[in-house]
Amino acid sequence: MKAYAMLSLGKTGWIDKEVPQCGPMDALCKPIAVAPCTSDVHTVWEGAVGERHNMVLGHECCAEIIEVGSLVKDFKPGDRVLVPAITPDWNSLEAQAGFSMHSGGVLAGWKFSNFKDGVFSEIFHVNDADGNLALLPEEISPEDACMLSDMVPTGFHGAELANVQYGDTVLVIGIGPVGLMGVAGANLKGAARILAVGSRPNCVEAAKFYGATDIINYKNGTISEQALALTKGKGVDRVIVAGGTVDTFEEAIKAMKPGASLGNVNYLGTGDYIKIPRVDWGVGMGHKQINGGLMPGGRLRMEKLGALVSTGKLDVSKLITHRFKGFDHMEEALFLMKDKPSDLIKPVVVF
Ligand code: NDP
Ligand code: ZN
Repeated sequence: MKAYAMLSLGKTGWIDKEVPQCGPMDALCKPIAVAPCTSDVHTVWEGAVGERHNMVLGHECCAEIIEVGSLVKDFKPGDRVLVPAITPDWNSLEAQAGFSMHSGGVLAGWKFSNFKDGVFSEIFHVNDADGNLALLPEEISPEDACMLSDMVPTGFHGAELANVQYGDTVLVIGIGPVGLMGVAGANLKGAARILAVGSRPNCVEAAKFYGATDIINYKNGTISEQALALTKGKGVDRVIVAGGTVDTFEEAIKAMKPGASLGNVNYLGTGDYIKIPRVDWGVGMGHKQINGGLMPGGRLRMEKLGALVSTGKLDVSKLITHRFKGFDHMEEALFLMKDKPSDLIKPVVVF
């Protein structure tokens, strides 16, 4: 079967692969639509998870099931499904402890395009089909469904990790598609003010659409000084980090009130250490909490987030700026994600 893969660090291309085997709890699926992710870019061009050879890329899609294993109860061939980027082993001890995304080891619930072949393929394999897939509601378009694989659950997990409460002032650093869903998640959780950090004009427009009340351009001065100026020197209650580098944490800590909490979902592709400013962190006693996490994945989350789209409470279509028809456009779409032209938020390829 035909697939688009990471050939080695810094190199991608089309390859032929064997059709995967379907185990008793698994499903084989063919994509209906797929989307490339900034994480694919970190993986290939920054080597952030290490060397990989001929690994099929991609972890964002919706699909049609073509085969299920003998123990799969709730799905059958022909079903159209939402597919989460993170597909944990739900029987693992890590999942039982509440950290499904780390089932089998740190980040090991993230299998597609990390520990096994991803979804940019004519056919792909899903472990634990009953635990990980969700039926694709008819009212959700295939393009929008792709945003439910990773962008929505990751951005919303940022709002969870930051512990956003009613009436909070929330700083969202980075308003690419993940940060935009951080803005939307914070808004749904009842944030009063949302300070969104970015520079691309269409991302700024989308941030306002999703609930940002103030915009900070990180190119016009430090984020912390701008956030403190907007809050009369008081600082913010919560921070969601969905962009920037290992140095961005310094800005975030400086902008946080005592008692504030930060949720990072940014994939730190480079740098050895994260900088925490000693004095601004209350010389170690400031109660400024730092969390970072991979989104949980799995079926329940897909169903719940899908319900927000089905009921019109969340419009994900504003994330999609580039639409391609045909798998042959996969490379073009991935390179858009790598090069980030100023009008890009997210491309989608419909098969
Ligand atoms: P984008 O590259 O589209 O967006 C990044 C955002 O960060 C942009 O708004 C950009 O601003 C802003 N930014 C860039 N540099 C800085 C800086 N120095 N200071 C502050 N802001 C800055 O990325 P995505 O939204 O696609 O993804 C965001 C991150 O989330 C990626 O690292 C991705 O790999 C990761 N991710 C994590 C997952 C998880 O489960 N934890 C899952 C999926 C993705 P500008 O407007 O100038 O471009
Ligand atoms: Zn992704």
